[in-house]
Amino acid sequence: MGKVTGFLEYDRQEQKYQLAGERVRHFREFTLPLDTGDLRKQAARCMDCGIPFCHGPTGCPVHNQIPDWNDLVFADDWEEAARNLHSTNNFPEFTGRICPAPCEEACTLNLENQPVTIKTIEQAIADTAWDKGWVRPEIPTVRTGKRVAVVGSGPAGMAAAQQLARAGHDVHLFEREPKAGGLLRYGIPDFKMEKHHIDRRVAQMQAEGVVFHYGVDVGTTVSLNSLEEQFEAVLLTGGAEAPRDPQLPGQDLAGVHFAMPFLVQQNRRLGGESIGDEAPIHAGGKHVVVIGGGDTASDCVGTSFRQGALSVTQLDIRMKPPEREDKLTVWPYWPTKMRTSSSQAEGAEREFQAATLRVEGRNGRATGVVCARVDERRRPVPGSEFVLPADLVFMAIGFAGPKAEGLIQDAALDLDRRGNVLADDRDYRTSRPKVYVAGDMRRGQSLVVWAIREGRQAARSIDEALMGATVLPS
Ligand SMILES: Cc1cc2nc3c(=O)[nH]c(=O)nc-3n(C[C@H](O)[C@H](O)[C@H](O)COP(=O)(O)OP(=O)(O)OC[C@H]3O[C@@H](n4cnc5c(N)ncnc54)[C@H](O)[C@@H]3O)c2cc1C
Ligand code: SF4
Repeated sequence: MGKVTGFLEYDRQEQKYQLAGERVRHFREFTLPLDTGDLRKQAARCMDCGIPFCHGPTGCPVHNQIPDWNDLVFADDWEEAARNLHSTNNFPEFTGRICPAPCEEACTLNLENQPVTIKTIEQAIADTAWDKGWVRPEIPTVRTGKRVAVVGSGPAGMAAAQQLARAGHDVHLFEREPKAGGLLRYGIPDFKMEKHHIDRRVAQMQAEGVVFHYGVDVGTTVSLNSLEEQFEAVLLTGGAEAPRDPQLPGQDLAGVHFAMPFLVQQNRRLGGESIGDEAPIHAGGKHVVVIGGGDTASDCVGTSFRQGALSVTQLDIRMKPPEREDKLTVWPYWPTKMRTSSSQAEGAEREFQAATLRVEGRNGRATGVVCARVDERRRPVPGSEFVLPADLVFMAIGFAGPKAEGLIQDAALDLDRRGNVLADDRDYRTSRPKVYVAGDMRRGQSLVVWAIREGRQAARSIDEALMGATVLPS
């Protein structure tokens, strides 16, 4: 523990944002990092708890050793902090930017609403490591001669491939898209995480021996059978891409879209990729309604503002949550409470307890969304209907599981009740010998940090199966 009285002397301080009026004029990241002196003070607030809930089961899924690197930052030993952080997390600059930080909810100081600014410190350690040149390829000294295929290059596939390559295996990563990153690249907007962070990790992984094959849709252009023949193990990390379909009357009108095509198009534009022969979806000069209350919906809000939407309204069927949770009831678990994302803070109207009844239109184009208030059991309240004008409607009510067409049909794998590929989180084995699964494809739509954890653990399980023992950390 760095400073015994740190938490008494210093208030919590988070990194600041560019003003909304400035940041909506561009798609770049807009956080304003704390300087080193302030970061040291924030790290000094850590109490080095006897039971550090921040990295326990309700806190950090990759079990980052948070009190240890808080202490190292306070001691100004950034290089050791970076080494420590990378020992549990392959990509801390990703999670430092976009993790919702369950560690901060679980922090003991959150009992007083003043958790340690763990996420800000994590990002600072990771960024410093890159700036100082401490992040280098970790090339294995011994090669095993075993060949492993990883399907999908989201955070689960990237983490697994990196771990397996470091264990000395010959790793080939197959990705349907022209670039790596999965939802990090094509779902999450640049203003939350710029894509050069992924590119330099890809370069690091290539130097460590991972071979990337782009434009390969396993199950369609290449069969799973053929991968099984060529490789000793195959890890599937294809994500949970099937959107939940609200099946609204009128959702076939022009101007009504699932969220992902909209977000993917904008990410392709910024990445210099073509959107092919898809009709452009653009919010400029339009009234936008976003149906859904999660991350994807928020990303549609922020993207719409940056494209020049006239108005953005977000519909959430849930009751408006309380401003503050009852700590003694929910801590150290993730609480339901009123949260305002940076995108929502850019001027979105938010409607709670609002069900979407239908989309109405004229001449085949959407003109409005008909809504009704719902009671606690989500039943529409008679007479509470209202109409929101809308030229563009995004459906963002979550994801149902992996896409059935292609890989899932080709592979004939056992699925769980929710349609995810069946495997447990001890060995990550599917119903086919040699075939493993990790990330959203196994657990359903989740978080980047969980995808990294599952990728690491699946890599360990594969290494153990191939070698009879493993030194890879979980
Ligand atoms: C819009 C949006 C915003 C989000 N925001 C956040 C956030 O702020 N913070 C957070 O922690 N989480 C967020 N998430 C969730 C997070 O992105 C996912 O949980 C995480 O990316 C899952 O990682 P994954 O590797 O399992 O799958 P994915 O990231 O989905 O990657 C799967 C990859 O597999 C490829 N693939 C699929 N099938 C095949 C095939 N047959 N052959 C070859 N390649 C294939 C896909 O092209 C893709 O590249 C968000 C999700 C969305 C949709
Ligand atoms: S719970 Fe908070 S105060 Fe305690 S060790 Fe973790 S970060 Fe430090």
